[in-house]
Amino acid sequence: EERELGRLRSKPSRTRDGVDIALYANAESLDDAARAHALGASGIGLYRTEFLFLQRNELPDEEEQFRAYRDMVLGMSGRPVTIRTLDLGADKADRTGLTLSDEDNPALGLRGIRLSLASDGVFDTQLRAIARASAYGQVRILVPMVSSREEILLVRRRLKRVTAKLRKQGYEIAERLPLGAMIEVPAAAIALHSFVDAVDFLSIGTNDLVQYLLAADRNNEALGELYSPLHPGVIRLLRHIIGISTEHGIPVSVCGEIAGDPALAPLLLALGLTEFSLHPATLLELRRVIRNSDLSALRARAGKLLQARDRAGIERWLKATTS
Ligand code: PEP
Ligand code: MG
Repeated sequence: EERELGRLRSKPSRTRDGVDIALYANAESLDDAARAHALGASGIGLYRTEFLFLQRNELPDEEEQFRAYRDMVLGMSGRPVTIRTLDLGADKADRTGLTLSDEDNPALGLRGIRLSLASDGVFDTQLRAIARASAYGQVRILVPMVSSREEILLVRRRLKRVTAKLRKQGYEIAERLPLGAMIEVPAAAIALHSFVDAVDFLSIGTNDLVQYLLAADRNNEALGELYSPLHPGVIRLLRHIIGISTEHGIPVSVCGEIAGDPALAPLLLALGLTEFSLHPATLLELRRVIRNSDLSALRARAGKLLQARDRAGIERWLKATTS
């Protein structure tokens, strides 16, 4: 079993009917990146940079951030590295004084891009560090907790200003720095048509999207199975996001935990997903499921999946699909 999985390291993530599925890795450290590289990941789909900011009292400066990003980019030797800008706040509170400690509802508070836009200097420093790392490979910038078109346009403007200044200072910056949005705020998902033309790519953060859709705290165990992607509302919204992105030719991935659950892969493939970003731990298992899947047969069953009326119905669909 282990040996059989091991053999998949050098095999393509291609369905039985010949469609290539991109498997990116979620990474927090150089170790994760090395592992992802060894497993033949397509790149890093989610680099959570807030880990550079946690468990310390002072903010990392531009040089420290630059070195961390550059090393990650070099570690992936030319494959794309998707660097997510700071997603502090809510369940990721820091000790540097950046996040507020007195919010009544931190998950609905000043977190992610909201916090970055409210703390000018910190955000510009991060954008500078990321832009400088782009000279060493293929860098993409991913913005967390986007809720509107305005936020994307603000970030674009900031990024443009930062790169212009860096170039003037003599730094080498990649010609293209694709800018993407995390889709994890329900209104952004529902109104995706309103800003899909303003992004270069999208990544669905199902950990938060499910939490906000179901009004169920992602870390509250008292809620039991209430916090779950197996809800008809979640399935329908995923279908909507993937549909709009595909229609507009904008690449879309899922980078929440569900992307790394091999048991759910048939569901995501049926909904039209062709890019996954997951923890390296289950990458080979996912590749095996994909290689055993017939994509057109799965997609033909999407209508049935969308008709499921409850968790049990979705589970029955999964069972009937994989048996
Ligand atoms: C998500 O919300 O699904 C996600 C990938 O980001 P995080 O878990 O870091 O909030
Ligand atoms: Mg999130």
